[in-house]
Amino acid sequence: MSRYFCHEFPEVLTFETRVVDARPGAVVLEQTPFHPGGGGQLADRGILRWNGGEATVTGLEMIAGRLWHLLATPAEASDTVQAVVDPAFRTMMTELHTGTHILNALVYQQFQGALVTGAQLNDDGTARMDFDLPDADNDRLRALEPGLNELIRQDLPIRYVYVPLAEAMGEHGLIRSRSVAPPPDEMGTIRIVEIVGLDRQACGGTHLASTARSRPVKILKIDNKGRHNRRVKIGLEG
Ligand SMILES: [Zn+2]
Repeated sequence: MSRYFCHEFPEVLTFETRVVDARPGAVVLEQTPFHPGGGGQLADRGILRWNGGEATVTGLEMIAGRLWHLLATPAEASDTVQAVVDPAFRTMMTELHTGTHILNALVYQQFQGALVTGAQLNDDGTARMDFDLPDADNDRLRALEPGLNELIRQDLPIRYVYVPLAEAMGEHGLIRSRSVAPPPDEMGTIRIVEIVGLDRQACGGTHLASTARSRPVKILKIDNKGRHNRRVKIGLEG
């Protein structure tokens, strides 16, 4: 996996670039502001515009390290295009994703280092996280909500470092998920997301610059999924 443009420049949602490969209904761009999705985060939505036309991006497909933008119409894009990520959708994904990290940090700290077994962000402002919590009391999980919102209010900064995979594997708790660990990049490093003072973990998604940029988060529901897993559903308020 290459480092994504949106990792380096998360605030750039509109970008002029060149088409470097094309097949009917799909193009590869030289640089793209689109996040391809993964680890539970949904792929960005948006459009490509060019002189004389535009097309909705209906999906993104990573093939052999190249990101294909699937287009709603078979229209042939010109060599130069403007790639435009839907800002409302990206913001919602970013808020939800940041909320899942805060929840994850609280569960990890308060439930003896419980790991994540799955995560999925939804396009309706909700997300679910599954945790390996065989003996957890669901009321204790529900009771995390005020602490979660307190951490949002504290406006903790969020920053990134890249560390060699072997080093990351050696730091307890850095690879938090049993199912969605991001692959290393071509330099053999993985991206670590740090919510300063709270949590560090490997992740390839998009996150807010600091926690108070999120709306408050509600814990909507807790389900038992099998003997081991607890599924916690959260939602953004408003
Ligand atoms: Zn993340």
